[in-house]
Amino acid sequence: MTALRVLPLGGLGEIGKNMMVVELDGRIVLVDVGLRFPTAGELGIDLVLPDFSYLRDRVDDLEAIVVTHGHEDHLGALPWVLRELGEDKVPVVYGGRLTMAMARSKLDEHKLTETPLEQLDPGEHVPLGPFDLELVHMTHSIPDSVAVALHTELGTVLVTGDYKFDQTPVDGRPADVSRLAALGGDEVVLLCGDSTNADRTGFSPSESGVGPHLEEAFARCDGRIVVTCFASNIHRVQQVVDAAAQVGRKVALVGRSMRKNVNIGRSLGHIEIPQGMLLQTREIDDFPDHRLVVISTGSQGEPLSALRRMAHHDHPAVKLHEGDTVIFSATPVPGNERAVNETIDRLYHIGCDVVTTRDAPIHASGHGYTEELKLMLNLVRPRYLLPVHGDYKRIRLHADLADAVGMDPDAIFEGENGLPLEIDERGARFGDRTRSGVVFVDGVDLGDPADAALRDRRMLSADGIFIVVATISEQDGRQVVPAEVMFRGVPFLDEVDGVVDDIRGAVDRSLAKAADEDVREIDLLQQYLHDDIATFVYERLRRRPMVLPVVVEV
Ligand SMILES: [Zn+2]
Ligand SMILES: [Zn+2]
Repeated sequence: MTALRVLPLGGLGEIGKNMMVVELDGRIVLVDVGLRFPTAGELGIDLVLPDFSYLRDRVDDLEAIVVTHGHEDHLGALPWVLRELGEDKVPVVYGGRLTMAMARSKLDEHKLTETPLEQLDPGEHVPLGPFDLELVHMTHSIPDSVAVALHTELGTVLVTGDYKFDQTPVDGRPADVSRLAALGGDEVVLLCGDSTNADRTGFSPSESGVGPHLEEAFARCDGRIVVTCFASNIHRVQQVVDAAAQVGRKVALVGRSMRKNVNIGRSLGHIEIPQGMLLQTREIDDFPDHRLVVISTGSQGEPLSALRRMAHHDHPAVKLHEGDTVIFSATPVPGNERAVNETIDRLYHIGCDVVTTRDAPIHASGHGYTEELKLMLNLVRPRYLLPVHGDYKRIRLHADLADAVGMDPDAIFEGENGLPLEIDERGARFGDRTRSGVVFVDGVDLGDPADAALRDRRMLSADGIFIVVATISEQDGRQVVPAEVMFRGVPFLDEVDGVVDDIRGAVDRSLAKAADEDVREIDLLQQYLHDDIATFVYERLRRRPMVLPVVVEV
């Protein structure tokens, strides 16, 4: 009997790192490859990925990876997934136009160039083994967002991706409601629906409502204006540019990701900046304050972002002063409130005015509210529902909404990461739990050297340092004397017995493995040691001290 198996590896019981395995007849389509950023407790960690070890043994069964949109919590893990599974093993990655352009740029930075990235337009069909893939155009806070429809002999599996039903989107392309209704007219066997705003009642405000409020806010400013928003929110940037033009100001883009995303957006025609409107960074200082709008990264209070540096008087190009106004055209993602508040307070300290979403409706969420979630359910009328993209509370609230629109309670599955939902002709049920969890990324993709120095200092201050000196034979790469292990400032080390001896053991194993694999290059060996010891120490101590391996050849 043919059975569908849908296994979430991330995105349930949390907001972030979305990843969903859809399986039929032993073949797999992976929908979304997201990451999340570390919480305050995960010091010294750069990124958090879903544990996708499930796919490691199954890579030969993988038909394709499909990405719903270009946000980090859906696309961000792609470089690591390709590197781990093997670039040549992943046959193809599909997604919308901007999504694939962003993926290309990301993979280029990681020097991953082999896996084909295929832009797929909504409405096109691609056969993928037992699946027929189709993307459905949706609206969200980034252009080219899609829902993923996987048509199978058991019906269609619809993964909504992040969405809202914006009736007046900035680019004039609302979600393809008629296609969703048509899918519902056939058979949607399973809906995996975004639950992010299941706790907000009513309809989300339209993105195009933000522009006039920005313009109003601009009109009240005499000094310089800095607007901060998500760099990927191309339509928001467009509205800031338009509002600036209305009040006779020019714009400058500050922050690496802001410049990068706007460049990609411009090249694809998603954003238009009139000739002569855009100032270079070096022109900012000499330009009259009342004629300038700076569009900046840092809406989340990120430590090294342009706005945070401005707030600390540490930005090379933009020095803020009394009379300037900073407008937050974004709300803090849960977990970032403290950093945002600190940034805001710093800005007041240097004499700026600050405008946030509490003062004016200058932000619109990219996720639909309760009425939109209900509309989705009524349009596609799924046989089964698996709420995704939400913590347990929002998953429950989404389930309640399904109940309210008349879905059979037995057809609503409140799932969690690692728990597969299995569907066949007889019905649907949760299967056996599969390994899931998190994988930490620690410094694989460093920014400029200043970032690296800051990260090092943070790690040292929080978790101390291990220095490991290994002496190996020049002939065969094997260890000649036991490794020396030194440490400074590692908290609670004395409370764990025998850690230092165990680290020596880990060094032995790591070097033996490297010798077996004929790894002899000192740099590579040090990298091997670093990774193995860092992993080992984390597993034992749940801490991330800096690990400094030194390999000496004799
Ligand atoms: Zn998103
Ligand atoms: Zn998302």
